[in-house]
Amino acid sequence: MAPRGGAENESERLEGEALDLLIELARLDEKIDLAEETKYKRPRELEQQTRAVAAQQKKVDEAHEMVVAAKKRIDALNVESQGHEAEIKRLEGQLFSLKTNEEFNAMKHQIKGREEKNEQVQDRILELMMALDELEDRLKAETEALEDERKLLAEEERRTQEDLARAETRIKDLGAKREELAAKLPADLYQLYQSVRTRRGGVGLAHVEGDICKGCDTGLLPQIVARLAARHLETCPHCDRILYL
Ligand SMILES: [Zn+2]
Repeated sequence: MAPRGGAENESERLEGEALDLLIELARLDEKIDLAEETKYKRPRELEQQTRAVAAQQKKVDEAHEMVVAAKKRIDALNVESQGHEAEIKRLEGQLFSLKTNEEFNAMKHQIKGREEKNEQVQDRILELMMALDELEDRLKAETEALEDERKLLAEEERRTQEDLARAETRIKDLGAKREELAAKLPADLYQLYQSVRTRRGGVGLAHVEGDICKGCDTGLLPQIVARLAARHLETCPHCDRILYL
């Protein structure tokens, strides 16, 4: 390697120092981005829980409707059964005022028909009562599940508020540190970093492993790697990111 003059050494030293500052700045940016992500994500996670409560409320409403419908049906059947019973009583009252055997037997037959109908109604009521028991158990379980979801939501709301406040403080603190650091960087380097960051998904620096830019997983020319080793500032020809070893 050719001997190097003092000016070259000086420029390497300055570029190396700027690169160290830039690496520090990029780490801060990573942390700030993470806090910003929390600010974005947390309210959306809360929305999910709000939706879960609404979905469970719907299940409770449906179960409640089914209970009400079953009770209504049972009430209607009870009214029907009372009608049959009243009619049976009325017919039975007439039974002994009948004059002929035929009339008596015909009336008996009519009463029997009513009794059979009433039995069918009673059977149906019993079935519905058993179904109602199950529906009421389900309503109870769904209502309990709704309580759980509501508790989760309240807890989630509290945690979200805390996380957002924490993220806000962190962004403020890190932002102040960032400003200090940015002021120490050469203006053109800072601008380069910012513009690459804007264009490349918020990441302005790329680590080099071997001869690979880890920003875009592309191989670099040996000259670039050699200049990096000598602490010069280099950018990746493929992804434009500022490189460091
Ligand atoms: Zn690259």
